[in-house]
Amino acid sequence: VIGYFNGRWIDPAEACVPLDERGHQFGDGVYEVIRAYGGRPFLLDWHVERLFQSMEALRIRPPFDPDGCKDLIHALIERSGESEAAIYLQVTRGSAVRNHLFPEPSVEANVSATVRPVKPGTTEARPGRLLLLPDERWLNPWIKSLNLLPNVMAKQTALDAGADEALLVRDGCMIEAASSNVWFVVNGELVTAPADRYILAGITRRFVLEMARDLGIPVREEKLRRERLPEVDAIFLTGTMTEVYPIASVVEHPDIPCTSIAAERPSARSVAPEQVREVWT
Ligand code: PMP
Repeated sequence: VIGYFNGRWIDPAEACVPLDERGHQFGDGVYEVIRAYGGRPFLLDWHVERLFQSMEALRIRPPFDPDGCKDLIHALIERSGESEAAIYLQVTRGSAVRNHLFPEPSVEANVSATVRPVKPGTTEARPGRLLLLPDERWLNPWIKSLNLLPNVMAKQTALDAGADEALLVRDGCMIEAASSNVWFVVNGELVTAPADRYILAGITRRFVLEMARDLGIPVREEKLRRERLPEVDAIFLTGTMTEVYPIASVVEHPDIPCTSIAAERPSARSVAPEQVREVWT
């Protein structure tokens, strides 16, 4: 496991980020997770393209050009000596005395990274279970920002409930999972939510879309309403670390409506496995 911060190789546990750093004070930054297979970063160009889109969306001045970014990722993998690895790369607006406004004069972005070994075939052989939950994220999940609190809460709630992932519902449609994209097979067609502002356009999603088109498998980029679950023949998730993960069942909690968001403040949401009911297998 290796770490990197602004040009230095470090131990990931080493304290090196200033307290006045916008990434940890405001979540004012973006990131990518890239998987290396056989020592080579998979779909690197697409990851770098998306990182630059995320930086542009948040008006973060890129600390490198796309080629410099790719060189860094290759250097990280080489330095780690790992061939099966997960590379986490983060860019924040930088370090400055805490103030919501962008630092003036502007400061250099902070770049940090870790490389961790991954056991090949990490994707569970056992098909997964999803817990339906309302999508409580902000209105720009398409930006791969550091602000992941709704995702963290949803995924932990799913785990507590005996599920593997949360299936997030916005405006009545099952659009994404907490850390992966979701796909449905309906009437012999693949259905996945369109890459609008409400989902993160996954790199693995893009790869699977391309593969499906190459193979002549019909695909619809459409939002699927919760009520259409009975028509669904199969479900799978995609993600850089999730890879392609088959789903065996979907559960919901009777008191957590996912099709409308209640006005009241919800109580601390912990769901036990015996409180959920199966709504799809
Ligand atoms: N949606 C969310 C919310 C995610 O966190 C991820 C994982 N980065 C994905 C989708 C899948 O994206 P990718 O295929 O680029 O890993």
